[in-house]
Amino acid sequence: MFHTILIANRGEIACRVATTARRLGVRTVAVYSDADAGSKHVALCDEAVHVGGAAARESYLVEDRIIAAAKATGAQAIHPGYGFLSENEDFAARCEKEGLVFIGPPASAISAMGLKSAAKALMEKAHVPLVPGYHGADQSPALLQSEAERIGFPVLIKASAGGGGKGMRVVEKTGDFAAALESCKREAINAFGDDAVLIEKYLTRPRHVEVQVFADTHGNCVYLFERDCSVQRRHQKVLEEAPAPGLSEARRKAMGEAAVAAAKAVGYVGAGTVEFIVEGDAFFFMEMNTRLQVEHPVTEMITGFDLVEWQLRVASGEKLPVSQGDLRITGHSLEARIYAENPEKGFLPSIGTLAHLRFPPHVAFARGGLPGEPAAVRVDSGVRPGDAITPNYDPMIAKLIVWGHDRAEALSRMSDALGGTQIVGLSTNVAFLKRLVESKPFSSGDVDTGLIARNHSALFPEGTPVSTETLALAAAALIARDVKQAGSDPWSHRDGFRPNSSWTRSLDFTSVPVKVVYGKAGYRLITPRADERFTFTASGEDLRVMLGSRPVSGTVVLAGESVHVFALGVETVLVLPDPGAHAGQDEGKGGLVAPMPGKIVALLAKAGATVVKGAPLLVMEAMKMEHTITAPADGLVASFLYRAGDQVAEGAALLEFTRA
Ligand code: ADP
Ligand code: ADP
Ligand code: MG
Repeated sequence: MFHTILIANRGEIACRVATTARRLGVRTVAVYSDADAGSKHVALCDEAVHVGGAAARESYLVEDRIIAAAKATGAQAIHPGYGFLSENEDFAARCEKEGLVFIGPPASAISAMGLKSAAKALMEKAHVPLVPGYHGADQSPALLQSEAERIGFPVLIKASAGGGGKGMRVVEKTGDFAAALESCKREAINAFGDDAVLIEKYLTRPRHVEVQVFADTHGNCVYLFERDCSVQRRHQKVLEEAPAPGLSEARRKAMGEAAVAAAKAVGYVGAGTVEFIVEGDAFFFMEMNTRLQVEHPVTEMITGFDLVEWQLRVASGEKLPVSQGDLRITGHSLEARIYAENPEKGFLPSIGTLAHLRFPPHVAFARGGLPGEPAAVRVDSGVRPGDAITPNYDPMIAKLIVWGHDRAEALSRMSDALGGTQIVGLSTNVAFLKRLVESKPFSSGDVDTGLIARNHSALFPEGTPVSTETLALAAAALIARDVKQAGSDPWSHRDGFRPNSSWTRSLDFTSVPVKVVYGKAGYRLITPRADERFTFTASGEDLRVMLGSRPVSGTVVLAGESVHVFALGVETVLVLPDPGAHAGQDEGKGGLVAPMPGKIVALLAKAGATVVKGAPLLVMEAMKMEHTITAPADGLVASFLYRAGDQVAEGAALLEFTRA
């Protein structure tokens, strides 16, 4: 086993690797950018080396600095995590040349699977089934169009070098092909520096089922069963589970063996994932991810093995600890990815500071499914309260992983775990994930990649009325704040001057008006639906309210004008309008401002053009995604304030628009 490894990553995965290394007695070296000096992964490692600026290309992606850091600290091996340099064959080869062990597959295997098109050609030879499509070298638009027609619409255009759900376009009909191809190539060159594409038949109701494989340097290769990652938004995974609901033993074995064949075909070593798309009884190879995957914990929970430990053992030359026949599935595991994003606004990433951050009771990095005591809830995260989610890196905040004896138990634990997760400071998908986990379509187990889109209205219900309990907690928190600020109860103080009267305070939340009457024996809460007495005790942000004879407890976080109430497993945000706060805000700009810092990619209209509502006007790229800014109404594009290639700040006005 190594005595020292360098972790060439940040955030959640760097913390994950550091924890296993520590358990194995391996010293860890962190690397960090200007933005991460005070971050959790740096604190967790034994030593840390600064490698450059906040942008990944100035730090985490600079091979020279990573290698130099490893040498300077006496590291024997480099763990690349995922993203960044993990699937970079040059980096893997470079490590080898410099006498450092790359904890991953050989460069030749990364290279063979690196381009989806080349990988598909290889798999065809290994008799692994493929989705009907075109993955040839000829990239002329006319040929691609005719191939799309041969395959039959709808088709999916994919960047060969793509990943992370980026660089994909679904095309419904022949007339849309040329424009989609152009936009796909533009995104591909920006994101991956390579605009080659392939075309696949677009399956309309498929499942994403992937197989975890593991190989050592002694010729052994096993599969650790499958994960179902069908529940996605924007072709990116949201919920992952193992085993896949409804998969028969025969199919599990067939897919596992196909995955092992794929790995063997490229001389694979270490942890890898072979992704299949499944429709009806058929399964097709999609791609192989030559690294540890974000959702590896669900496999750890059902098999009882620590895959990072296996990675370190295999990389240091040990044999796999078990053979295929020893592997068993125990129970069911589910992972939810908590992202800084706004599900209500098309899952647009959000940025900000984690002003308040609490996870449910959990065991970090535990493994489930072991004889004895399986850990029910595990949290993998790379952030601490007060940390910021910036546009520099991936907006994932944490992963919640649960284990249950069966799927129903896992789902119910996940729903509780999400209900116990509190995040204030930016938008997150926590409430959305909870609705999703509790929804009929998901709990029935009949999952496919269209589940979220198809159930949109059920997953985004109209606002439900705020409960009296929630309003009482909010009122109690505001009273507690006043008391704290005044040093004593300011209302009772005033009460002293007018002994026979009580004082009323109006809390005009934008969604519901509330009055609190202060009296001798406590408070009275008057809402449009209720009139009840209450008393409370507060300990920091945690409150216990006695409402009539009902005890209610919750956490209330006051953030500017917003009152965030976490109670009964849900968050309610109440807003106290501050009359001065919005002066001067120009409503007329509508969506014509940059939703976050980013780069202008293309202007899609001409200055002076008359456009109809919804017409695409401009494309910007932010957080590795393209966002199209559309006309908020029929009107005139008076002028653009930026050109393609310009960087823009969050909130910057992008163009001048006059409504017709
Ligand atoms: P999967 O591993 O399931 O295929 P992704 O493709 O979303 O899932 O995971 C890879 C992505 O993880 C990278 O493209 C990158 O955006 C992101 N990533 C890289 N490093 C980190 C990190 N330290 N923490 C969280 N996400 C990261
Ligand atoms: P990435 O490298 O971004 O992970 P993949 O090729 O693995 O790209 O595809 C990502 C997701 O896109 C899949 O999980 C699936 O939801 C969807 N997808 C991919 N190929 C197809 C297809 N041929 N038909 C329908 N959906 C597809
Ligand atoms: Mg994929």
